[in-house]
Amino acid sequence: EDERLRQSQKMEAVGRLAAGIVHDINNLLAVVTSGLRLLEKEIDRDPASPKINQLIEGMLERAQNGGALTQQLLAFSRRQPLSPEAVDLNQRISALTQMLERTLGRGVETRCVLDPALSPIHIDANQLDVAILNLAVNARDAMAGKGTLIIETSNATEDAETDSGSFVRVSIRDTGCGMSEDVLAQVFEPFFTTKGENEGTGLGLSQVYGFISQSGGHVRIDSAVGEGTAVHLLLPKKAKTEI
Ligand code: ADP
Repeated sequence: EDERLRQSQKMEAVGRLAAGIVHDINNLLAVVTSGLRLLEKEIDRDPASPKINQLIEGMLERAQNGGALTQQLLAFSRRQPLSPEAVDLNQRISALTQMLERTLGRGVETRCVLDPALSPIHIDANQLDVAILNLAVNARDAMAGKGTLIIETSNATEDAETDSGSFVRVSIRDTGCGMSEDVLAQVFEPFFTTKGENEGTGLGLSQVYGFISQSGGHVRIDSAVGEGTAVHLLLPKKAKTEI
């Protein structure tokens, strides 16, 4: 219990810090980006500058990466403005799957098992897409690019800790390497990653956890080393009104 408390206090502190910094960094990035765009236009008029254009492209891309990072931090801090709307989750997942197949590469087979009687939910659909994308990319990495990804929806059933009747469940399963107890205990920590320095940010699951919590939902993980992982999102049917 002590460990849990310490953990949640740490999350809270990092979250508060993140929310403060992210706002300022976003503003700085916006200035850098618009400056680079202007520069790009100016230089376009000088045909002798392909090298410089390439440099500018590179910098724009880095600024964009920085923006994506700060977004994830903001989600983790649970202080981002959310716009919940009525969402047909099955339809949303079908649309996302087409994009996923392109993103995840050929070795990953994506399968959807969608409950036709699924209740509608209220949630920020764009942030939900980001969360599912984060989970799918983790699944691909865990399978080293080869395996099966299953996305499953259902109306949530018995669950001791939650008022299950008011949730819909979406599960993202992979046939990857799975997680040890030790890893599982740390996955929601911001910046925790087992991937190489330039591979992982350790913010993917933090985004998922922060966003789902802020939306009034829950995240559960089942994992077995050598067999695979299932991440379950319990999403509220009714929008959470207060934050
Ligand atoms: P990142 O993907 O940048 O490492 P995440 O927060 O998304 O950051 O994940 C943290 C860690 O959790 C990963 O480095 C990995 O060790 C573990 N992990 C996440 N998803 C899975 C999965 N589907 N299968 C196995 N391990 C996973």
